[in-house]
Amino acid sequence: MMVSLKRPVLVLLAGTIALAAAVAAATQPPAARPAAPLTVISAEGQRPLPASQLGDQLVVALDDLAALLNLTVREDALSGGAAVGYKGRTVLLTAGQALASVSGRLVALPSPPVRDGRRWLVPVEFVGRALAGIYDTKLDIRKNSRLLLVGDVRVPRVAIREEPVGGQVRVTLEVAPKTTHTITQEGNHLLIRFDADALDTSIPAIAAQGVLQAVRLADPRGTIALDLGPKFGSYRASLVPHEQDAELVIDLVPAPAETPFPVTRPPAAAPPSGPPLPVPVLPPALRTVVLDPGHGGEEKGAAGPGGTLEKDVTLAIARRLKAGLESRLGVRVLLTREGDETVPLDDRAALANNNKGDLLISIHANASLRPGVSGAQIYYLSADEAGEEARRAAAARQSLPALGGGTRDVEMILWEVAQVRHLGDSAVLAGLAEEQMRQAVQLNPRPVQQAPFRVLAGANMPAVLVEVGFLTNAAEEERLKSEAHQEAIARALLEAVTRFRDARAQEPRASVPPTVPR
Ligand SMILES: [Zn+2]
Repeated sequence: MMVSLKRPVLVLLAGTIALAAAVAAATQPPAARPAAPLTVISAEGQRPLPASQLGDQLVVALDDLAALLNLTVREDALSGGAAVGYKGRTVLLTAGQALASVSGRLVALPSPPVRDGRRWLVPVEFVGRALAGIYDTKLDIRKNSRLLLVGDVRVPRVAIREEPVGGQVRVTLEVAPKTTHTITQEGNHLLIRFDADALDTSIPAIAAQGVLQAVRLADPRGTIALDLGPKFGSYRASLVPHEQDAELVIDLVPAPAETPFPVTRPPAAAPPSGPPLPVPVLPPALRTVVLDPGHGGEEKGAAGPGGTLEKDVTLAIARRLKAGLESRLGVRVLLTREGDETVPLDDRAALANNNKGDLLISIHANASLRPGVSGAQIYYLSADEAGEEARRAAAARQSLPALGGGTRDVEMILWEVAQVRHLGDSAVLAGLAEEQMRQAVQLNPRPVQQAPFRVLAGANMPAVLVEVGFLTNAAEEERLKSEAHQEAIARALLEAVTRFRDARAQEPRASVPPTVPR
């Protein structure tokens, strides 16, 4: 239908101008509500730029922009709108049209300019899409953090994550682009000072838990403050540089408890009374497997761009793996959660211990600020962390008063150290899982990793944590929500557990400490 194209366009244009005039005359624009101001960041410093909310649009007044950026603003009789000038170049705005003419080139705006008394209000996107086209310095709007950047200012994006890891609180800051920083402790605050004019970030809400009370922006510009709580002891920071960005990991370590005994929670496998009984390193058979679908309930875990939630993916895969393990190996399989419920990390390891699990597999899906990152990874407890805990555990052997008087030595198994004796087996399981998963799904370039995950540290049995892939990668998210892919992951893990069981069955019994009475 090429023929009738030309005339209707002309009619449409004429109609639009008439309509625009009619709209301007007849309808009252929705009232603009005051909103938190934007912050203008330039080489000269920072200034507030008043902003309003108009319907669902964040808008600013042309007059305010003009004062800030040395623009001229005049009424434009022809368009019934406004003409914005800068050094001989012009942006034309037409009343009622979500468009701007930038030196004759049309660009779309999310909403039309609106006259509010004597002012013109424009959506903030006007700055980046229209004004930037006639301005001689870089203009950049960072809407989410309400920043207007003028010129070459250094404003890295910082994604902040907080999570419990092995009894500590881990704060991860993904910084793009890479930006140098310093960390200083000043009183009850840990100050992370970036070499930047401002930060493009959103501050996560933190549930104060005694070690970390809050995360906030602080002075001077480019500083993030971690407000420390009464349980804070020390911190460790490490930087993982990538090609474009960097990951700053800060572990907040609680101060040692001031109780007469170290905090101990002997795993149920250790008898509460009777002669001291070291737990055998290798139980003869695989009877009970505990699967831990990560997160659940209020804790949604990671989320993909398509809205897929980690807690749903982990439960779906755990259920498939449970079915496979039961039917093929005839073992008892327990899930740390059966449905969509919140289960504390310590309770997960405790459930595995109390049910004399022979194997624990915790299932998670990963997230990254970089959408390109993908692939599954398998984790087991890092030996460094474990070694440190083991030394503490050795020091924690106590003589306890026995019934009927006297004392006897009891092997106190620190909750945090339960995993140490199983690290070798956990590494074997991680290796088998890697081999099997490599045949079924895409693996991350660093497929097997060690990390101080709390759920692993507390498990008194071989234990691994499988990150089945990155939900933040759109393609991987698509795969992870498909039943076929979930089944492929479950199958691979089933193969790994089968091989682990078979290898263990061939293990000479001598590897069980000979001191264990049987
Ligand atoms: Zn997770």
